[in-house]
Amino acid sequence: MRLKVDGVSKEFGGTRVLAGASLSVADGELAAVLGPSGCGKTTLLRIVAGFESADAGTVAIGGVDVTGLPPERRRIGIVPQEAALFPHLTVARNVAFGLPRGGRRDERVAECLNLVGLSGYGERMPHELSGGQQQRVALARALAPRPGVVLLDEPFNALDRSLRVSVREDVRDALKKADATAVLVTHDQEEAMSMADTVAVMREGLIVQKGDPASVYAAPHDLGVATFVGEAVVLDASAERGVASCALGSLPLRSGGGGGRGRVAVRPEQFVVTPPEAGVAGLVERVEFFGHDAALTVALDNGVVIRARTRGDVPHRPGDRVGVGVEGPVLFFEL
Ligand code: ATP
Repeated sequence: MRLKVDGVSKEFGGTRVLAGASLSVADGELAAVLGPSGCGKTTLLRIVAGFESADAGTVAIGGVDVTGLPPERRRIGIVPQEAALFPHLTVARNVAFGLPRGGRRDERVAECLNLVGLSGYGERMPHELSGGQQQRVALARALAPRPGVVLLDEPFNALDRSLRVSVREDVRDALKKADATAVLVTHDQEEAMSMADTVAVMREGLIVQKGDPASVYAAPHDLGVATFVGEAVVLDASAERGVASCALGSLPLRSGGGGGRGRVAVRPEQFVVTPPEAGVAGLVERVEFFGHDAALTVALDNGVVIRARTRGDVPHRPGDRVGVGVEGPVLFFEL
């Protein structure tokens, strides 16, 4: 179901945590709310769930204003940070927990376990599952009563890094198969961008930009969003007629407008490493090898330090003299 949060504010003891946050999530959309620790993500989620009341603003689910309703009447499913399964109940009984007795309860439990790829695990006890499997059971439990909106609060925090990537794919698949409307709260930019249909960037109690991950990365509204949704080298610049002058030379701007003094932001994949005479010359400081690609830190002679993403088979070593160029248009933000 559609979720609409409109102008929600919240103070705790005189401190403003939400400052009129608005968020629309379409039916069947998986939206990630991405923001640094303390920006109010969890508070926003708790207000949507009804665990916390807003000082101002409204929450509507499926076109119905639920602002004054208690959590159990909002048709919300919740996947908490840690699976929090009932340890003394089997997997199947955990999933059945929120379902009315009788009817097609067993059928629905089997359906939901199938959605999360855990058919055949119904008779196990939670302690017999891995952390990732427990999180998938928590999702099955949240989906079972066919909620209007599923809320996931940093659901992969307790998992180790290698497991996290595969579990988030499983969770995305299950949410998509269930055709669920979902809001995922995270401070992990990679998690938000790789999993969600849309990313809502949150800062100081406000959603400052929402869009599909590629367009937020390509066209951030301001410098704060630009540096939060990806790496960037930020330089003072002055712009005129679609070209910025900065320590990396004259660079074309991505968006035609803008002029005067400001900052350019260059993404790491825009840097090209050349022979010293073909670019802005500098010294390789560090080479980080990741397998599929590498990062090259170069201290340019003009004092600027850049970190470029390159192919994995980088032929450079620390101490090499290289040149650095920039490919494609850069982001520019007026001061
Ligand atoms: P994190 O990623 O660290 O969980 P967050 O973006 O989810 O951060 P919130 O948990 O919403 O942020 O908290 C935002 C601010 O509100 C914090 O400064 C927090 O201390 C404060 N806060 C949250 N809940 C309460 C409460 N019940 N009483 C008082 N202050 C609170």
